[in-house]
Order: sequence, then C-alpha cells, then structure tokens
Amino acid sequence: MDNERRKTLLRGLPSVDELLRLPELKEAVTIYSAPMVADAARIVLEGCRSSIIKDGIEDGIEAGIEAGIEDGALVPSAAALASLVLEEAARAVRPGMARVINATGIVLHTNIGRAILSPEAIEAVVLAAGGSVNLEMDISTGERGQRDARVERLVRRLTGAEAACVVNNNAAAVLIALNTLAQSREVVVSRGELIEIGGSFRLPEIISKSGCLLKEVGTTNRTHPADYEEAIGERTALLFKAHTSNYRVVGFTAGVPLKKLASIAAAHNIPVVEDLGSGSLVKIEGVAPPVVEPTVAQSLSAGASLVTFSGDKLLGGPQAGIIAGSAALVERIKKNPLKRALRADKLTLAALEATLLLYLNTDTVTRKVPTLRFLSRPFGDIDSAAQMAASLLRAALGPDYEVEVVDVESMAGAGSMPGQTIPSRGVSVTHGSLSPQKIYGIFLSASPAILGRISGDRFLLDMRAVREPADVVPRTGA
Ligand SMILES: *Cc1c(COP(=O)(O)O)cnc(C)c1O
Repeated sequence: MDNERRKTLLRGLPSVDELLRLPELKEAVTIYSAPMVADAARIVLEGCRSSIIKDGIEDGIEAGIEAGIEDGALVPSAAALASLVLEEAARAVRPGMARVINATGIVLHTNIGRAILSPEAIEAVVLAAGGSVNLEMDISTGERGQRDARVERLVRRLTGAEAACVVNNNAAAVLIALNTLAQSREVVVSRGELIEIGGSFRLPEIISKSGCLLKEVGTTNRTHPADYEEAIGERTALLFKAHTSNYRVVGFTAGVPLKKLASIAAAHNIPVVEDLGSGSLVKIEGVAPPVVEPTVAQSLSAGASLVTFSGDKLLGGPQAGIIAGSAALVERIKKNPLKRALRADKLTLAALEATLLLYLNTDTVTRKVPTLRFLSRPFGDIDSAAQMAASLLRAALGPDYEVEVVDVESMAGAGSMPGQTIPSRGVSVTHGSLSPQKIYGIFLSASPAILGRISGDRFLLDMRAVREPADVVPRTGA
C-alpha cells in the first residue's frame, strides 16, 4: 500500500470525540463512565490505526482488493466501531481473575491457586472481609491482643509445638526465621538440600537475603553426620534442613535424619530449623500408595527447634507461612521488625483458623478439607465421575470425537509428595483430525476454562479434583 492510500485510510477514521458522540455510545457512558468509554474508544482507534500502518497488512489488503473488497473496508463503519468500543469497555471492567476447572490431576496446582478452601474457611473469610472483627483485640477485656493468637493456640494443639506464628507464606517464614536466628552468621545446609522450588524460591538466595552466610556441607547425593560436625564453628548459628519438595535423590545416597541432626545441634547448643514445605498436620488416610510426607508433629518430636510450612499446600488452607516450635525462638521471631512487614492479613488468618478448627476432629477432617478429600477420594467415586463426564462429553462434542474413560495418575503438586503419583480415572478426548493441542485449546477457551493435560497423542481430563462431572463439558461464555 502506498503512503497516499495509507493516509487516506487513516484520515477516514473518526476522532475519539466523534466516536463518543455516536448515539450507540450514549448509554455506555452511563454504565461505564465517560473516561472509561473514552479510553475504550482510544484503544479501538489505535487498533484500527496500527492495522492500517502495519506493513504485514499490505498483503492482506492486496489480496482483499483482488477479491473485490474496497480499501474502505479497512475502516469499519461507525456502528461497527461503536460495538468494538462497547466490547472493549466491557472487557476492561471484567475481573481478570476467573474461575477455571482443575482437571489436571494436580490437586495443589500453584498456577491456579493451590488449595481450595473449605466452606467453613470461606465463611470465615466472608465474615472478616465484610465487617470489623476482633483481629487484634481480646473482646473479654477490650484490650489489645495478638493477631496470631487464635491460630497459634490451634497450631500448638495440633502439632505439640510450644509456640507458633504466622507470616505471608512459607518463603517468608524461612526468611524471617533465618534472619532472626542467624543474621551475619552461618547456616549449615547439606548440598543435597539446596532446593529451588517454583516461583524462584532458591534456598541459597533466601539465605543470603536473610543476611546469613550459607555453609554447604556434604555432596549432592551423600551427606554424613561428620560433615555437619566438621562444619560447626564459632560463626555457626544453626543447622538447616530443607524438605526436598520437588525431587528425590535416588541411588547411592545418604542423608542425615532429623533426629541425628538435632542431637548434633544440641551438643553444640545451636538450633535446628526444618523447612518442611508442605507440612502435613495429619497422616492422610485412604491414599494408596500412602502419603509419605512427614508431619509437623513428627519433625518437632524428632528434635526440630523450629519448623516452617505452608498454609496452602497439604494443609489445605489459605496462602500463609507457619513457624512452629520452641517458645523462646518464636518469641524472638515475633519481635523482629520483619514480622510486621510479613504479617498475615485478616482474611488469611480467618481462613487459616477455620481450616485448623477442622483438624480438631480427626474423624471428619479428611472429608471436610477439600485438599485432603481430593487426595483420598475413592477410586470408584472418581471412576463414576469419569463415566458420567464421558457420556456428557460424548453428547456435547458429537460423533467426530472419541471420548474414553482411562486410567490416569494424579499428583499432590506444589512440592508435596515428590515423585509420588496416585492412581486415578479420567477422560481421554481425541479427534481424527485435531491434534491434542488443538483440543486442549478448545477446552481452554471455554468459559470457565477447563485445564487438563496432554499425554502423548491424547488430551486427558483427570476427574480427581473436579467437583461435578458437568464441569468438564466446555461451555461458551455468556
Ligand atoms: C513450597 C515450599 C516453600 C515455599 O512455600 P510458599 O508457601 O510457596 O512460599 C519453601 N520450601 C519448601 C521446601 C517448599 O516446598
């Protein structure tokens, strides 16, 4: 397209003001406000302008002209522009965060928000969000209280810890624990445990950001008690153990069990801090193969001075980091000015308290906390859901698709139960001429988006963490 033609086309576009005077947009102003509609108009006009200017469009125009479409078609009619503006304004006020269906088979999927809260926890969040609450107040006396107190009481009861406190997430828990106990001093860690987990949590970096010096001991595959013994010196503040959340070192390996580590630390009068990651509070029953995650209580009774763990992994609550253990050490953490910067908000504390309350009844906790319920969901139940989903999908997708109930493997996810899969049932969707990627695209563009997984030449929907079979049938947005 020559420059002249381009200029003519650009001149053909209305101004923002002209657009706003269109009768079609009068009502939009009362719905979205004038500045929002003006913004939308600007975005739409900018889009038109750049398609006219973009070099890549030329071939399209040439092809269009050959096919008998006028240049002018590049400039949409006023009515078309108005409807583009309406669409753009509606898009701008739609929340970007939307529900998705988790048919990935990964129960705790970090990218889609990890744990789902129980109805009890949701109710507590709604209560705290919509009104004033006794967050830092002891109602019986009217005096100022501690925001962590209620959760602390429950964590003590559920884990046997002397004391506990809560911060924003487990990364923050590790950061503040190390900063409090080991600033400017050495933290001894096995080379086999220098973990990186998703979202750029790298233990060596957290240690250095905590103001501590990392003292690595042992090798990637083998670390012995003597390695720790030799590393301990005047500058040693603590021994640190990290749960290798997302991998397992197998083969010719040796690690030092927590109990042994605790006895070495005790002999030198220094603490042992264990970053448990998931920090399960109970043995999760009914999962085959059984869950091998250590519980917080086990770590504490094996001698950890402090343990840190997440609220939204196996615990099944909100995003939070919990530090539990020695009263003297927790007290020091509470006094660290970083605690103020990393403290949990009222919504988190409300959800966490409600979730922990469910753990008081060991008979019902697995049923009531969704994460635990999904992980221990009976195979037969998942199979029936898969059968039902398959027949709904067959009806919805038509005869061109092959829909089959198949065996799949679920995972806990989010660094819980590394390397462990749980047999599950799902639905495989294939099509004679569409690739599994194409099929996934169709499910992703549904409303709500349906997340599955591709395995070989199949698109799979794992039903373990899906609530209703109909949830995996793609629907188009309203
Ligand atoms: C998940 C994990 C963390 C980080 O926890 P967040 O709650 O995501 O901040 C730290 N350490 C280990 C071992 C983990 O598994």
